[in-house]
Amino acid sequence: MDNAAARLAEVHANIARVCKPARRAPEDITLIAVSKTHGPEAIQPLIDAGQRVFGENRVQEAQGKWPALKAAHPEIELHLIGQLQSNKAREAVALFDCIHSLDRPSLLAALTKAMDEAGRQVPCFVQVNIGNEPQKGGCPIAGLPAFLEQVRAADVPVAGLMCIPPADTEPAPFFALLAKLAADHGLSGLSMGMSGDYQTAVMLGATHVRVGTALFGARG
Ligand SMILES: *Cc1c(COP(=O)(O)O)cnc(C)c1O
Repeated sequence: MDNAAARLAEVHANIARVCKPARRAPEDITLIAVSKTHGPEAIQPLIDAGQRVFGENRVQEAQGKWPALKAAHPEIELHLIGQLQSNKAREAVALFDCIHSLDRPSLLAALTKAMDEAGRQVPCFVQVNIGNEPQKGGCPIAGLPAFLEQVRAADVPVAGLMCIPPADTEPAPFFALLAKLAADHGLSGLSMGMSGDYQTAVMLGATHVRVGTALFGARG
């Protein structure tokens, strides 16, 4: 696969193939093209091939390349998939259309304030530390019910739950657990699955898959 259109077609075909046994509709799964570290010259061919939803993991990097691309293609949706510092909440709310890393009360407070000031409600996935890893972001599973209550009380629109399973482990049990937690809380959105495991994630209910390498090639 040596070009963006072919890679995109392959990922779509893989999603469609696993949708069948899972009895799901491919159009119910949003493919987020994760363009972190890649410049506009790598992103433009994917836009030309029809991709309209992109993901970045750092606010500052996204600020450098997306305002121009979004001005040229106003229908593009930009998702923040990486950890967010509270002091970047205002910039994140201004640039992104969805945030996948809401995971703690201090960030909730900063985002609530930023959304109020901007007059702009940005849907947020609540990130769950699904493997209970101390070095990773995400709300602890035990704290999820209370945190979700806080998010709802703050009137921040909840898109669903997001996770990044532990590396080098079979991800399926973690995806299944996230799906169960979402169902328990009446949430339908599930942001899970990356280049190595998005098909597994789709089989287990992912509504948003975050795919970088399979679309852009290896990061430098
Ligand atoms: C980089 C990144 C991805 C995409 O990873 P690939 O393995 O390149 O598909 C997905 N989710 C998050 C949170 C990331 O930081």
